[in-house]
Amino acid sequence: MGSSEISGFYKKSLGERLSIVREFAGLDEAEIELLKKFGAMDFETADRMVENVVSTQQLPLGIATNFRVNGKDCLVPMALEEPSVVAAASKAAGIAREKGGFSAEATPPIMIGQVQLVHLKEAERAVKEIERNAGRLVDLANQADPVLVKFGGGAKKIESRAIETKRGKMVIVHLLVDVKDAMGANAVNTMCETIAPELEKLSGGEARLRIISNLAVYRTVKAKATFSKKALEESFKEGGLKGGEIIEHILDAYHFAANDAFRACTHNKGIMNGIDAVAIATGQDFRALEAGAHAFASLKGKYGTLTSYSKDREGNLVGEIEMPIAVGLVGGAVKTSPVAKIAVKILGIKTASELAEIMAAVGLAQNFAALRALATEGIQKGHMRLHAKNIAVMAGAKGKEIDEIAEKMAWERNIRADRAKELLKGFREK
Ligand code: NAD
Repeated sequence: MGSSEISGFYKKSLGERLSIVREFAGLDEAEIELLKKFGAMDFETADRMVENVVSTQQLPLGIATNFRVNGKDCLVPMALEEPSVVAAASKAAGIAREKGGFSAEATPPIMIGQVQLVHLKEAERAVKEIERNAGRLVDLANQADPVLVKFGGGAKKIESRAIETKRGKMVIVHLLVDVKDAMGANAVNTMCETIAPELEKLSGGEARLRIISNLAVYRTVKAKATFSKKALEESFKEGGLKGGEIIEHILDAYHFAANDAFRACTHNKGIMNGIDAVAIATGQDFRALEAGAHAFASLKGKYGTLTSYSKDREGNLVGEIEMPIAVGLVGGAVKTSPVAKIAVKILGIKTASELAEIMAAVGLAQNFAALRALATEGIQKGHMRLHAKNIAVMAGAKGKEIDEIAEKMAWERNIRADRAKELLKGFREK
């Protein structure tokens, strides 16, 4: 086994990096050739985005159909590896369409930057002193990003509080920044670093961390949709359930999640299936979204759901979602990833808030689709159909063979690689 201690890997050419990895891992020529196929993103672009690049990892990009958000039709690009997600989002959007689709509203894009102050003599006095100088601190922060200010954004407010810790009292300063069409992390971090020396002077303490918080409580999106009894019943003809019954089942499922953290976690995972897929397609920081979503779900003191469901006066199902969605159309990877740029164009959006609103709608659609399937036929049926296709492809099936073999295995309830190979052999011998 070779050593992983390699100095200056980043300085080496692509060829040199590949031969190091090839030797270390025993890759063959075909594998190296595959890695060299960079796809839509060339080596130079990828190498500028992250370090030590040897290839790109590609994901399928699917288009969710049927979405209508705030009265406007949109096609939604989703990049992910999990089967059924794009189909489920499209199905849910189709059901919501009957009652006009989704309405969604994002708050202004205010992010929070945190500066931690330690070794304070008088924490309470420091808090007062910082608040007295808030206007000056905001102006100082804005000097760090004149471009953001020019676009109508910038630092707006300072909030500070003392916290008790095992290492003594600390003062935590929050800098509230309107980041406009950016996700905002770089912008906010720079501002926090800019005001930190002044905060040290005012507080008599020492600044430690100066970083954005991903718990974007001031940058949330609400979305809502009505799923009618009629559309629900039509969407599930083979199930033999009336629309009203399906709604009762879905409400049972929702109240389970709202009162049980084990279920709420998976409930929210389903929401993030959709949100992350749009985030990846459009070049967003999906880890930031995940962190923010789950922390937001815990804000009431116990881990809860990001969506809620009720019935309207006619007995139709009303689904709602509220969560932080910090996304940008400038900065980050959005403008460097060629496919992300196209995804934004497909969405036909001009602002980060519009993107956040569509993402909230997709999150709600995804969650509704999962609850509808779970509360009725279970999700394995649909999943297995797609899983069977993957197995058929892995067994070497091509073109029409894939669907026929998958269908047969699903019907037999025997979705296995050896069965796929057997069927393929029979198919080709015919
Ligand atoms: P950025 O700094 O690349 O772009 C934002 C800047 O673009 C603004 O500061 C502004 O000067 C300029 N700008 C031009 N037109 C604008 C407009 N219309 N609206 C807003 N700004 C405009 O990017 P960013 O959004 O500040 O940072 C995002 C990146 O930070 C992501 O790649 C993310 O992964 C990374 N990051 C995240 C974290 C975290 O989430 N904890 C921490 C560090 C870095």
